Formats: sequence, C-alpha cells, structure tokens
Amino acid sequence: MTGVSDVPSRGVGPTWLPSSALDAGHRATPINPVTRTNQENDARSSAGTEREQSVDLYEYQGKQYFAKFGIPISPGGAADTVDEAVAQADAAGYPVVVKAQVKVGGRGKAGGIQLADDADAVRRHAAAILGMDIHGHTVRRLWIENASDIAREYYASFTLDRAAKLHLCMVSAKGGVEIEEVAATDPDAISRLHVDPVDGLSEQAAAALVADAGLDDEARPQAAALLVKLYHCYVEGDCDLAEINPLILTTDGRVHALDAKVTLDDNAAYRHPEWDDFAGDEELDEREKLAREKGLNYIGLSGSVGIIANGAGLAMSTLDVVTQVGGTAANFLDIGGGANADVMAAALDVINSDAAVRAIFVNIFGGITRVDEVANGVVEALRRVDIRSPIVLRLDGTNAEAGRAILAEHLSEKLVMEPTMLAAARRAVALAGGEK
Ligand code: GDP
Ligand code: MN
Repeated sequence: MTGVSDVPSRGVGPTWLPSSALDAGHRATPINPVTRTNQENDARSSAGTEREQSVDLYEYQGKQYFAKFGIPISPGGAADTVDEAVAQADAAGYPVVVKAQVKVGGRGKAGGIQLADDADAVRRHAAAILGMDIHGHTVRRLWIENASDIAREYYASFTLDRAAKLHLCMVSAKGGVEIEEVAATDPDAISRLHVDPVDGLSEQAAAALVADAGLDDEARPQAAALLVKLYHCYVEGDCDLAEINPLILTTDGRVHALDAKVTLDDNAAYRHPEWDDFAGDEELDEREKLAREKGLNYIGLSGSVGIIANGAGLAMSTLDVVTQVGGTAANFLDIGGGANADVMAAALDVINSDAAVRAIFVNIFGGITRVDEVANGVVEALRRVDIRSPIVLRLDGTNAEAGRAILAEHLSEKLVMEPTMLAAARRAVALAGGEK
C-alpha cells in the first residue's frame, strides 16, 4: 500500500512555494497572480472552465485552519507592528519564533524566521523582518509563536492524485528541508499512501504509514492520530493541499505542526462562509478591492480595453476576441444575470477607476437577462457615473431591438453601437489606440 511507484513526480505545483507537496497532478493558481498569464488563467478558472481556482493561505491562516480540526500547533498570534509582535510574544511565552508571513518558501534561509529570547529581541527581529523582501514578497505581517525544542523534523501532506483519482498522503522522516530535494536525492525516504475518499483514512492505515516512513517510535502514535486529523482537514476543509513541513517531535515527546501550507479549493467556497476571513485584500489591486466591495466578479488585467459582459462564457469570449483583433483586455468582468442599473453602474465605476482603460466594450447577449433592461441600466449608469472612456455596445438576444431603441437617442462619439461582437471588438480596440 505504501511506496506506490507509479505516482508521477512533481507536476505543476503551487508557484509560490518551492517546497510544495510533491504533487501528483496537483496544481494551484495563486490568488495573487504575478503574471498576465496567471491572471488570465484566473479569469478562465473563475469562469468555471477547464481549471478550478485555488486560494493559498498564509502560514498563520493555515495553522488556524489546522487548529479547527484539532491538529496541534504552537500557541501564537499574528502581528502587523513591532508593538503587536511584543504583545503576541508576551502572550505566547518566551522564547518565541518571529516568522515572516509571505506566500513563498525558504523564509528561514532568507532571514525571515528568527528565534527571540525576550521582548527586546522580538522588537529587533520584528523591526527587521517587517518590510523585508523575501523573493519578491514584502512582509506585512508576522506570526509569533512559542518556540519549540526540536528533536526531529518530519514531513506530512495530503493532496489529490488526479491521475489515480485518489487522495495521496505523503510522509517522510526527512522533513524540514525542501521535499523536492528529498524526492530527488532519496525518493525512498518518502512513503506514499493513496486514500480512497469512499473509505477514508483509518487509524490503522495511518499507523502503518508512519511506521513505513520510519518515524521514531515515540512519535508514531501521535503522528498517526495527527494524520487522521489532517485528512479530515483536507477533505472536510476542502483543501487542494494540506502540508506540514516540518512536522516535529519535540524534545519532550510531543508531535505538532511547525509550519502549515494550505491551499483551499475555491469551488467549495460556497459552503465555507468562514473562508471570508482568509480573503485579506492585501493582495488585491485597487480595482479588485473596489469590485469586491461592489460584489462583482472582476479580475484585473493589464490591457487597455475594459470589458463588461453578461455570463462568464461570454466574458471570456469577449476577452478572446479583443485579443484576436490585436487589443489587450484591461479586465474580466461578468455582470451575470442581474444586469440592472445598479450592477451596470458599479461595473462602469470599477472600469472607470482603471487609468489604463482607453475604451470600454459592453457585450450583452440577452437570454434570461433582457436587453432592454440592460439598456436602461446603461442609460441610468451613464447618468450616475462620469465615464472617461468611449463605450462600444454590442446588444443581442432577448429584446435586443427594444434595447437598441432605448439607447439610440443616447448614442454619441462616446457611446457607439456595433451590430456584431467582432465589429464591436474592432471598434473598441481602435478607440483604445489601435493594435498593439
Ligand atoms: P519555511 O522555511 O518557510 O518553510 O519556514 P518553516 O516554518 O518551515 O521554518 C523553517 C525552519 O525554521 C524550520 O525547519 C525549523 O528548523 C526552524 N524553526 C521554525 N520554528 C522553530 C521553533 O519553534 N524552534 C526551533 N528551534 N526552530 C524553528
Ligand atoms: Mn516549512
């Protein structure tokens, strides 16, 4: 059951952490995409096409998530300032570890993790780490926890083996270092167990796995129990990845999670209202913050044509056709079915806030949404929002003629109508300054 040999080695893993689980087909899309490509992928995944969207948690969030499922962690708390860091250290008990919270690995090597014996040391380290750049990520938050005396460092994770259509648990007695390194230099040091979601993970199977992995005898019962809890966290908590590296055995014989890497499956967000707490907006740009406040399904991109469409599929096609005719999209925005004046005004407001936008392409295909209602929404929105850029409309589908009639008297240089999606895309791209 362990040592499954057909598990492929690392596929496309979380890009934000080199020491990610040796995933078997696991992938994660960062919520803070650093490249255009990732943003576009996010746009696509949020539209529910070929890939789902994932949300990576910070270590402190991952640990708080673990704690909900009874996985032991060190007592600690988050801090955004030096004073808060000292207060958290006082509460956790000295000595403490001061840990940079960034969604990137190798924090220890980069100087982002420091031990502190007293408040002065916490002050010093917190001041040094806050604002530090770790592989391109600026540290804005710290996690302060009671320091552990480490006897051993292990590794444990759950992820999905897509090829096998089973969950995959990996355990190693060689934790603390990057797991890819272990996989490359000593693959036998990682024990693997496929878990059928129908059967779940039994205590016995977990015990056999930790024994197979060669964890120290005194750590095995606690490690097995912890694995079962980690499995519950992974399944009931709807994680794509739940990884502990290192999982430690302390000198006084306790097993607990010293680090946490959790990727949530965003498709399950509807049944986890508590995830809203994780949705810190520090990773969002201003446009996305504004869009979120207005409840819009918006993803910022770097181009010059703002896009408003009803339906995720149409929004994506709109993005594609703008690209096809030589333009660049400034955003992905699906206003969904309820394209009334409020939604339209909110959408135009967000796009208007983007200084890079030179033209706005409103692409509506009426179905359940009636085009005349959308048209009234556009008229009303234009009354409320002072739009900087010209708007190109393409209206088709249910009540399209009525909709066009409503807008006819409002047409101007800044509000133009085109009969087809392609013509509208060409017009919008031309108004935005032509092909790039
Ligand atoms: P990462 O480098 O980003 O993966 O951060 P980790 O949270 O995994 O910490 C890196 C390393 O710092 C660990 O492998 C430990 O060796 C060390 N470390 C973290 N917390 C403690 C602690 O409480 N006590 C001690 N002695 N070392 C710690
Ligand atoms: Mn780690």
